[in-house]
Amino acid sequence: MYKAIKTAKTKLNNKIELFEIKNSNYDKTVLIIGVFHGEEPQGEYLINKYLKEDLSEIKNRLLIIPCLNPDGKNVNKRQNANGIDLNRNFPTKNWEKIENPEYFGGEKPASEIETQFMIDILSEIKPDAILSIHAPFKVVNYDGPAKTLAEKISKITGYPVQADIGYPTPGSFGNYAGVERQIPTITLELPENETNEELWLKNKPVINYLAFEY
Ligand SMILES: [Zn+2]
Repeated sequence: MYKAIKTAKTKLNNKIELFEIKNSNYDKTVLIIGVFHGEEPQGEYLINKYLKEDLSEIKNRLLIIPCLNPDGKNVNKRQNANGIDLNRNFPTKNWEKIENPEYFGGEKPASEIETQFMIDILSEIKPDAILSIHAPFKVVNYDGPAKTLAEKISKITGYPVQADIGYPTPGSFGNYAGVERQIPTITLELPENETNEELWLKNKPVINYLAFEY
């Protein structure tokens, strides 16, 4: 079991944890995030399974958040306990108040504990790449200078690359980290019609690539 290097408590008193896996002479730093959206638990499943692998010879440093939105996950809802879509709550230049409750990003940006947790991490560390695991669109979406990485992940998984998800996402994490901070940021949208076992077989090599090759 790994020790969390940073934690936060959500509104409903659930724990958000950041784990670090590294060797002393690590090369790059890769941040992996699961469950931005509470009804997309697949990321946490893959991450927790991956953390049971033998990572003693890991090349890069992995920073891993298995579940960013435990309050939403516990009730199988996209938003956090305040009804806010965390992926619209980042203080980007294009932030705006969204009236649609499905994508409501808060009365103001960075209002949420979960968002602040991510902002704090990126103020302390500049990762070389970020993988944020979502569902259900079966695409490798990317922001910032991540085209090559997106193509690599597409080749591994067979999921197509999509530079633009097809609708505006003001205040999204991809915009905050990828576009504005120029950190290669992948939003991996897993398909909804694959079993956990299939997801593991296709996506374990993605995390392996980021941990051992990238
Ligand atoms: Zn999502």
